[in-house]
Amino acid sequence: MEKLIFDYSKSGKIGVSLPDLYSESKPASSILPIELLREKEPNLPEVSEPEVVRHFTNLSTMNHHVDKDFYPLGSCTMKYNPKINDVLSNMPGFANVHPHQPTETIQGVLQILYEIEKYLCEITGMHSATLQPAAGAHGELTGVMIIKKYHESKGEHRKYILIPDSAHGTNPSSSCSSGFRTISLKSNEKGCIDIEDLKSKMNESVAGLMLTNPNTLGLFEEEVEQIVDIIHDFDGIVYMDGANLNALLGIVRPGDMKFDITHMNLHKTFSTPHGGGGPGSGPIAVVEKLSRFLPVPRVVKVGTKFKLSYDYPDSIGKVMGLYGNFGVIVKAYVYLRMLGVEGLKSVSRNAILNANYLRVKLAEKYDIPYNRVCMHEFVASGEKHKKFGIKTLDMAKRLLDYGFHAPTVYFPLIVHEAIMIEPTESESKETLDKFVDAMYKIDEEACNNPEVLHTAPHNTPVRRLDELKANKELNVCWEKG
Ligand SMILES: *Cc1c(COP(=O)(O)O)cnc(C)c1O
Repeated sequence: MEKLIFDYSKSGKIGVSLPDLYSESKPASSILPIELLREKEPNLPEVSEPEVVRHFTNLSTMNHHVDKDFYPLGSCTMKYNPKINDVLSNMPGFANVHPHQPTETIQGVLQILYEIEKYLCEITGMHSATLQPAAGAHGELTGVMIIKKYHESKGEHRKYILIPDSAHGTNPSSSCSSGFRTISLKSNEKGCIDIEDLKSKMNESVAGLMLTNPNTLGLFEEEVEQIVDIIHDFDGIVYMDGANLNALLGIVRPGDMKFDITHMNLHKTFSTPHGGGGPGSGPIAVVEKLSRFLPVPRVVKVGTKFKLSYDYPDSIGKVMGLYGNFGVIVKAYVYLRMLGVEGLKSVSRNAILNANYLRVKLAEKYDIPYNRVCMHEFVASGEKHKKFGIKTLDMAKRLLDYGFHAPTVYFPLIVHEAIMIEPTESESKETLDKFVDAMYKIDEEACNNPEVLHTAPHNTPVRRLDELKANKELNVCWEKG
C-alpha cells in the first residue's frame, strides 16, 4: 500500500529550488501586510522530486482507469480519448480567458461556441442548440423545462411525461424535478416499447415522451417513427435521450427521426470520459418551433462579429452561471474537426462492430436475454451462473483481478443479474480477445472453483468492500489510525 506523502517527509529534503524572496535585510513583513503573514511555518511535506513523482504515479495505479486497461462500463462510454485534445484545450488562449471579458477580446472563444453549436445541429439534424448544461441529466432538465414552457405558451398545463421501463434513471428524475409526474411504459419481448401500451397511455394531459435511443439494452427502437407519430398526434414533445450517440454518428439523426429535442453527452461521445469525475457537458439541440425557448445568452453572429445575445423574451432563462464547461467544449470541437464526417461515421461503425463481436463471443458461455444485432453495447446476464451460487457481483469483482474494469452491473433493471458491456470503438481486437478469455475463465471458475469468485478481488489494493454498510452508515470523514 502506498504511504501518505507526509510519511516520506524528512527535514531538509527539497524538491524544487526557488530564488530567495526574503532576507534579513528585506523581511516578508516589509513587503506583505502584517495580517497576511503566517504565525507558524506551513505544515508541508519535505520530499525530493523523485519521491513526489513516484508517490503520485503509484497512487494513480491503485484504481483502474482508461489509460491502464479496458473499461467496458455500459452506458458510460469510457473510451480512450486522444491526449492532444487535452493539450489543446489547456492552451493559454483557452484556459486563461475570463467569462466576463469584453466580447471584443474573446472573439475566438465565441467563434468556437458558435461553430460547435452548428456542428452539433448538423450531427443531430436539429435547428439550434445550447451548450450551457453541465451534464446529461442537466441537459434533460433543460429539455423538460422547454417542454413545459412550450405547452404553457399555448395556455396548457399538461401533467405527465411518459418514460419507458428501460429508461435511464435520470429521465424520471429530470421530469419530476420540473414538476411533471411520470407514467411508465412497458417493454415488449423484443426489448422495445410496447406500442399498444403507449397508445393506451397517450392523451392531452401528457406533455411528452422521453426515449433513449438506442435504448439501455443497446437496441435500436425499431418502431421509432410510429412512436413519434403517436406523441405528435396529441401535440406532445418527443425527447430523445442521446447520451448514447456513440452508436449513431453520421448514420442516423434524431431530427430526421422527427424527435423534437435531444441532448448529447460531450463527456461520453466527444472526447471526455464519463466516469472521470471531472466537469461534463450536456448540450441540447431542438427543432425550430422550440428554438425561442432555449437558455440565454446565445452566441450570435452579426456581420463578422460574434456577440452574446439576451434578446430572447420566451427563453427559459439561464441554466448555468456562465456559458457551459468551456474546456470540455474545446476538446469536443477539436475532436470533431480532426475526425470530420468520415471519421465520425467510423467511430460509430467500429463501436457497433466491437459490441457485436463481444456479444457473439460471450453468447457461447453467458445468457444474453435479447440476443440480436445490437448497437454500441449489449446486456448479458449472470442468471445462468446462479446455480453455482455465483452472482453477477462476484463475476464483476473477479474481472478486477484480471486487470479489467467491471462492466455496469444490475442495470438496466429489466434484465436480471444484468452485465452491461460497452467496449467502445477505441479498443483493438487483441484487447477484446483478452477480455473474452477472462470472461471464459470466470465461467469456468464459477463451475469448478466458486470460492475464488466469492472472495474476489484478490489483487487490488482494497479487497471487497461492505457496500451495504457503506450505504447505511455513510461516513465521509477519514480518520487516521
Ligand atoms: C449517461 C447517461 C445519462 C446521464 O448523463 P450524466 O452526464 O451522467 O448526467 C442519461 N441518459 C443516458 C442514457 C445515459 O447513458
